[in-house]
Amino acid sequence: MSKVLIIGAGGVGSVVAHKCAQVPKVFDHICLASRTVSKCDAIAASIRNRTGVEIRTDSVDADDLGQMTELIRSDKFDLVINVALPYQDLHIMDACLEAGVNYLDTANYEPPDEAKFCYKWQWDYRERFQKRGIMALLGCGFDPGVTNVFCAYAQKKHFDEIHTVDIMDCNGGDHGHPFATNFNPEINIREITQRGKYWESGKWKETDPLTVHQTFNFPEVGPREMYLMYHEEMESLVEHLRGLKRIRFWMTFGQEYLTHLRVLQNVGMTRIDPVIYEGKEIVPLKFLKSVLPDPSSLGVGYKGKTCIGCLINGEKDGKPMSYYIYNVCDHAACFAEVGSQAISYTTGVPAMIGAMLMATGKWHGAGVFNMEQMDPDPFMENLNLYGLPWQEQFNVKQLPS
Ligand code: NDP
Repeated sequence: MSKVLIIGAGGVGSVVAHKCAQVPKVFDHICLASRTVSKCDAIAASIRNRTGVEIRTDSVDADDLGQMTELIRSDKFDLVINVALPYQDLHIMDACLEAGVNYLDTANYEPPDEAKFCYKWQWDYRERFQKRGIMALLGCGFDPGVTNVFCAYAQKKHFDEIHTVDIMDCNGGDHGHPFATNFNPEINIREITQRGKYWESGKWKETDPLTVHQTFNFPEVGPREMYLMYHEEMESLVEHLRGLKRIRFWMTFGQEYLTHLRVLQNVGMTRIDPVIYEGKEIVPLKFLKSVLPDPSSLGVGYKGKTCIGCLINGEKDGKPMSYYIYNVCDHAACFAEVGSQAISYTTGVPAMIGAMLMATGKWHGAGVFNMEQMDPDPFMENLNLYGLPWQEQFNVKQLPS
């Protein structure tokens, strides 16, 4: 039995709370806290209607160490699931250290004034978590998260050496809006507008944003144009895969989306530095977020499927081996189950599973860990049980280099 505190009542927080409530034998007390308690209350009401489970709600500013620590201590929580924004990661880790409880998140830290995400800041907490005897599990969403576990599973079961990995994230769905992001618009646009980056022969190589692209025929979705991007799981996977020669990350975008993004960039609406508007400082990207659809509201009428997975090439018993492992998720089915679209769902379900494995001691350790450092087997089993079944193909054609 475990007491879990979820921080962040957005699209992902809603899924995590609904999924934890589906497993009362593990999570016997759930609290959802965010800056705006009315959002937590609306999610609690949905959980009550769907499952009959009551959860506690509260308001917290996770950037305030005193408030966060007091909240963690209030009900003697065992684990904090951070699904607020990456800006909160270090503050919540500090509070977990103070209170002596385990920590899990789905996105690595980035400073608000610089669009740069990397694990260094959180890896610097390793010694402090070790000394305190507590565990931090980083990047436990889909990508990062499931994609790391797919690689760990491939390494454990099918490969002696992994030579190339292509992580491919396809959203083949249609939410009906001319332009909307599927998770927090500010974080999403900061990520997409960065320079592309991939790792080859021991070095990081950069590309201009969204300039390298190719078509891939995604199972249950069909052919889609996908674009090379930098993504955080590559930073830890290059440390943990045996024999790796190259790793890349690809995401699909439609032409309509790219045209909107280009216009917004050209007119300065994606800037993260403050500008003076009518005597007040505003950050254009934060203003843009306030007028775009809330990702947690996109589920109504969202049609189509996502397909996210890893195409892997390497060697087994001295012979070449190629492998594709992926999950297909249906937006409408997610909405019917928990009232959310598939991007929030594919992030929130792995966060619940990671938390469950920590709560039951199947995943344990003192320090700061990435997903591929854990035994993939129990996680893979639970993906099948809790809504994200995976499929695998062998002898698959690899992408051109
Ligand atoms: P949303 O913007 O929908 O939700 C974020 C929530 O965090 C909001 O409800 C907000 O609170 C809350 N929050 C922000 N600042 C604070 C604070 N200082 N204290 C307390 N609460 C705060 O985002 P999403 O749900 O779409 O995304 C959540 C996280 O999931 C992000 O970090 C995102 O990067 C990550 N993610 C990871 C993916 C993966 O596959 N690994 C994929 C998609 C997302 P309020 O509304 O109350 O103001």
